[in-house]
This record gives sequence, structure tokens and C-alpha cells, in this order.
Amino acid sequence: MPDIAKDQLALDGARQFAGREHGLFIDGEWREPRSGSSFETFNPGDGSRIGRAAAGGEADVDLAVRAARAALDGPWATMKPSERARLLWRLADAIEAHADEFALLETLNNGKPLRDARMFDVPHAVEVLRYNAGWPTKLNGESVNLSGPGTWHAYTVREPVGVVAAIVPWNAPLAMAVAKTAPALAAGCTIILKPAEQTPLTALRLAHLMAEVGFPKGVFNLVTGLGEAAGAALVAHPGVDKVTFTGSTEVGRLIVKGATVNMKRVTLELGGKTPVIVMPDADINRAIEGAARSIFTNAGQICNAGSRLFAHESVFDALVEGVADFAGKLRVGPGLDPDTQMGPVVSAEQKARVLSYIEAGLRDGAKISGQGSAASGPGYFVPPTVLTGTNPQMSVVREEIFGPVLCAMSFSDRDLDAIAAQANDTDYGLGAIVWTQNLSAAHKLARKIKAGTVRVNGGGLDPALPFGGFKQSGWGRENGREGVEAYTEVKSIAIAL
Ligand code: ADP
Repeated sequence: MPDIAKDQLALDGARQFAGREHGLFIDGEWREPRSGSSFETFNPGDGSRIGRAAAGGEADVDLAVRAARAALDGPWATMKPSERARLLWRLADAIEAHADEFALLETLNNGKPLRDARMFDVPHAVEVLRYNAGWPTKLNGESVNLSGPGTWHAYTVREPVGVVAAIVPWNAPLAMAVAKTAPALAAGCTIILKPAEQTPLTALRLAHLMAEVGFPKGVFNLVTGLGEAAGAALVAHPGVDKVTFTGSTEVGRLIVKGATVNMKRVTLELGGKTPVIVMPDADINRAIEGAARSIFTNAGQICNAGSRLFAHESVFDALVEGVADFAGKLRVGPGLDPDTQMGPVVSAEQKARVLSYIEAGLRDGAKISGQGSAASGPGYFVPPTVLTGTNPQMSVVREEIFGPVLCAMSFSDRDLDAIAAQANDTDYGLGAIVWTQNLSAAHKLARKIKAGTVRVNGGGLDPALPFGGFKQSGWGRENGREGVEAYTEVKSIAIAL
């Protein structure tokens, strides 16, 4: 039995935090933004205003970059790897100790079902911190045998890349903030985090914990603000050594252009149009549930959402019927309602965008083969939708919708090259999901698919498994050894003996 009084108290606490006056967290202190202005933040579940966040701009970014640089050259540089590890672990413990508050803030601000925030977002952030806490003590170079004339002692070392700007989106605000912060700090970098303007709350709460667990001032800085102001200022600032970005491919392009000012290192985790391939021998019930979850979780607002279903013609009808049935039964509603299985999308703009894609699909000749109901009320609800009769020329198939809209297509061929060619017929290459019981087909398809992650018979993220995109889905990888090494520069040292 949930303790309703306790839950109400926790919710009141989260609302109170949301409603506070928030500053920018720079050099270990909370400061007013230079502009003195702020922007509103909303609860997507009912469209109500829940608070304001400071609108950081160029001058604030400059202060934050200076603070991050001073910390990089100061106490952070001399701190032992094991001490950095302990701080990261302590931060994980602190988030865990406030898990419910983080989950409530995430649901209030992003709209996702509270149970998802509790079961995925917050525990995942904790795991990512603990995983990365293992790296500071293991980031080593190697000794190298040289073949040139003379006798040499040559070796490499890994140094922190420097001051990092992390620009993150609104679909998993805490998890994204931590996905950048944890490896950057593990590698010995300092960081300026800019959360999405739609969802500043969990990043603000995170900044409070940073100070409490004892990170030296300036190591972690938080600048809330609009993308074209605070985000663009970070990208343009010559004192930033690396930008790590998750978001749309469109903004990714702007970041690449801006970063050339001082040849910043850039890691980009961009859009996706993940294919879900169901072979005739797949376990159909599991494939149905897996396909449905991969597009309807977080209301489809996941870069790796399985948005293109390719099912063999012998199982196509069963798949479509099954996913349509799943959509029809999904309880769509505000994230704070304990019965909700799918929440709203993040904003009125996002709702309009998703609905306009569905309309475009119908205009192009697609048909709705299944649709759940969008909850009534003022929240930004869209119905989970299964489209059939789609083809690769349609915008619903080509473009990332970032909503609960599945395009289902069939194939008759059993030739794996032809199946892979269909899956690869996209500008994106973030992920792919294959459902089959045929081991050989699974391995062969995994090799033929042009995507950063191929999952067979299941899904899920793990902080140890590199994640990132081929093609226009991005540059570089997050997670795993690659993820943390991306925050280092390799230096080669050769000594003539
Ligand atoms: P979406 O389109 O899904 O809202 P975006 O890619 O626009 O995602 O946003 C992701 C992040 O990029 C957000 O933190 C946003 O503020 C930031 N952003 C948007 N425009 C720019 C820009 N021109 N320069 C830097 N960051 C930006």
C-alpha cells in the first residue's frame, strides 16, 4: 500500500523546490544571472507553470568557463584518482538517498510516469556514476616500442581534455546530465552543464548535491538558459575545450560549426530512426511486447526508440495486431497518476509536432492500424499510434518524430542482405533491434546493420556498453571505456636513452 500522506508530503516538497528562486551554480556559489531574467518551466501533465529558472547568457557562461578553468588548473588537477572516484561514488549515494525527490522532480518537469522515473531514470543515473567511479584509477597510457634509429623509452599518457561544456536534452534530464558529468569528472575534466530549457529541475537539484558531497568549487558548474543563448555561448567560448551534446541532428550541425572557433573536441549523440526487425522464427509474443515498449516508453521520446518495424510477412499481421492492442490498452495520463503507463510529451510544441507527423503520414497514404486514446485534460497528450501502409519515401519513415508513432512495414524476402538494406535505408544509424531465434541470422544481421548498437531479443542501456551513432546519429561514443576516454587527450612521450 502506498503511504498517501508521505507521498503527498514528498510531492509538496518537490513542488516547493520547483517554485524556489533558482540561480546559476558557478564556482561553488549560487548567483543571479547577469541579465536578471528567467524563463518559465511547466508540468507537461497539466500544462501548469511550476517555476522559473535563471536565463544564463554570454556573461554567465564566461564566468562559469573561468571558474571551470581555475578548478582544472587548481585543486582538481592534484587530486588523486582514488579521491575523484570516492567523490563520484558519494554523489551516487547522495542521489540514491534522494531518489524519490529526484523521481518526483523529473515527473513534474518532464511528464514521464513516476514509476518510470523511479525504476529507470534515477537508478540509471546512480549506476552510471558508480560505473564511472571505477575509471579514474584505471585510465592509463601504455609503453610503446619504437623502431626508428636510436634507443628510446616511449609511452603514452591520458590527460583530461580540459573544460567541458555539456548540453543536454529534455527527454531524460537527470540521466543525460549524469551521462556527461560522470565520465568527464572521472577523466579529470571540469564541466559546465546546460540542461534543456524545458527541464532544468533535476539538474538544479544535482548542483545542490555536488556542493554537499564535496566537489571542489568550479569543478561542476550549472548554467540554465535557452539553447540559442546559453548553449550557443558555450559552443562559441574559446575557453571550452570540448562540447558533449545530446539532442537533435539540426542543433548538432550548429554545434559542429560553432566548435571550429578553437577546434573544440565534439561528441554528438543525435537523432535516430531505429529499425526493429522481426524474423519469421522470432518468439512473437516477446517481439510484440518488445516492439511496443521500444516505441511507447517515454512516449517515444527516446533517440533510440524502435520507430520503424520491419516484420516478415508471415508474422506481420500478428505483430501489428499485437502492438496495436498494446497501444489500445495503454493508460495514457499525467505522470503523477499512479495508474499512468504512458505520460504526455514534453511540451505543447512537441505535441503539435508529433500530431503533424501523423497527419502527414495519413496524407501520404499511411493508415492507422491501431491507436490508443490520448488522455483528456490540459496536458500534452498524444495517442500511441501504429501506422501501416508506410514506405521509405514518407516523412514518417524518414524523419525522427520523437513521439509514440510506429511505422510498420513487412518484408517477404529471407535474404539477410535485402533485410539489412531496408533497415539501413535511413540517414540515421543509432541502433537496431532484431528478434530471431536463429543464432546465425542474429550474428549476420548484427554485422550488416549500420548502427552503433544492435540488440537481439531485448533492449536496455548499460553504462558499460558503448552507445552512439553511425552516420547522422552522431560522433563518438558514450559509456564504457570509449565513453570515458572521449574526455581525454593522448599524449605521446619519447625519451632518447
Ligand atoms: P529538441 O529539438 O529535441 O528540443 P534540441 O536539440 O533543440 O532538442 O535541444 C537539445 C539541447 O540543445 C537543449 O539543451 C537546447 O537548449 C540546446 N540548444 C538548442 N539550440 C542550441 C544552439 N543553437 N546552440 C547550443 N545549444 C542549443
